[in-house]
Amino acid sequence: MISDRTVNAINAQINREYFSAFLYLAMANDAMDKGFKGAAHWFTQQFKEETEHALRFSKYLEDRGAKVMLTGMDAPQTEWPDLLAMFNDALAHEKKVTAWINEIADIALDERDFATQNMLKWFIDEQVEEEASVSDVIWMIEMSSGSKGAMFMADRTLGKRKDD
Ligand code: MG
Repeated sequence: MISDRTVNAINAQINREYFSAFLYLAMANDAMDKGFKGAAHWFTQQFKEETEHALRFSKYLEDRGAKVMLTGMDAPQTEWPDLLAMFNDALAHEKKVTAWINEIADIALDERDFATQNMLKWFIDEQVEEEASVSDVIWMIEMSSGSKGAMFMADRTLGKRKDD
């Protein structure tokens, strides 16, 4: 039996994953508006990935016999000063997501809910990847700042991101 406390925590996270998707879509739109097609592609991939995270948590609740409850969500920010600010916000957001996942892991430990602990392992590993990949992009953009040619190449590199 999964506890109501765990179900509520996972439902809250499902809604946050959808908000993450929405935030990255807003970043994709702003990147496109600024002419960075590669970054727009990168954020669109990220949008898809966040949707998959929400669905992965949803499948888990369904498997445990619990219902997914969607709520309203805040409007995302729609404009950033530049690409660096956008990716810095993406990193700050992923750090928040990591903290939220850790909170659910704390609850699952407290409840001795071993199945939820196992399910969360995938997300704990995923957050390490997320923070590392956004940090890599920030480094690339920082190295390119001040050079239009380097920024053009950085944007092209972002445009090569595959489905993962
Ligand atoms: Mg996520």
